[in-house]
Amino acid sequence: MEKQTVLIIEDEKELAEILGDYLEVEGYGVKIAFDGDAGLNYFNEIHPNLVLLDIMLPKLDGMSVCKRIRETSETPIIMLSAKSGEMDKVISLGIGADDYVTKPFSPLELVARVKAHLRRYEKINLNTKSTRNELKIGKLTFYKESYVVLVNEDEIELTTKEFEVLYFFASHPNQVFSKEQLYENIWGMNEFGDISSVAVYVKRIREKLNIYNIDYIKTVWGAGYKLSVS
Ligand code: CA
Repeated sequence: MEKQTVLIIEDEKELAEILGDYLEVEGYGVKIAFDGDAGLNYFNEIHPNLVLLDIMLPKLDGMSVCKRIRETSETPIIMLSAKSGEMDKVISLGIGADDYVTKPFSPLELVARVKAHLRRYEKINLNTKSTRNELKIGKLTFYKESYVVLVNEDEIELTTKEFEVLYFFASHPNQVFSKEQLYENIWGMNEFGDISSVAVYVKRIREKLNIYNIDYIKTVWGAGYKLSVS
C-alpha cells in the first residue's frame, strides 16, 4: 500500500521538524509548510492523508486554512495551538477540525493521535463513503484509490501489482485477454519483466481468491484469461 502523508503547517521551524522526524520514523511521508499560504498550496498539490495545522501562522492563519480545506475535503485536521484560550475560541467557531492539541505537547502523544485519526478515517472511507471509486463484481468490492479489495468484510492481502492485475480483469468482466495484452496493459512496455510473469501473477491471485472459494479468473484455452463471476 502507498505511504500515507502528513502535511505539517507550522511556523515554529524546530517544532515542525521534530514532529516531521517522529512521523517519518513511524513510516509516514512528511511535508512541511511554514506559513498558511504555502500550506494550502501543498495541500492542493499533494493531497495529504492528514494535516497538522498551527493556528497562529504568517500570511494565512490556521482557522482560514482549515475552512478553505473543508470546502473541498474531509481530510483529518489536527489543530495545534499556543494557548488554551485561543483553542476555546476555535472550538466554539466550529470550523471543522477533527482534534485540538495545546502546546506544549509530547510528540509521541501527537503521533498516537495522528495514527488514531488516520485509522478512523480509513475505516469511514472503506465502510461508508468513497463509493466514487468503488467497483463491485460478484463477491468482490474494489477501492481503487487505496488498493483495497474486500470479500464481504475481509480484506484480501494483495501486493500492489496483484491488485492491479485483478482490478484490470474486474474492470473488463467476461472479456478474454491474451498474456501479451495483459502484459501491455498492466505492466506497460517500459517496465522490467516479461510476459511469463502474467501467468505467475494469475496463479498467485487465484490462490488468494481460492481461500474465499472464489474462482472468477478462468483460463480460456489457446486464448488467455478472463474474469467471469458465473
Ligand atoms: Ca505559530
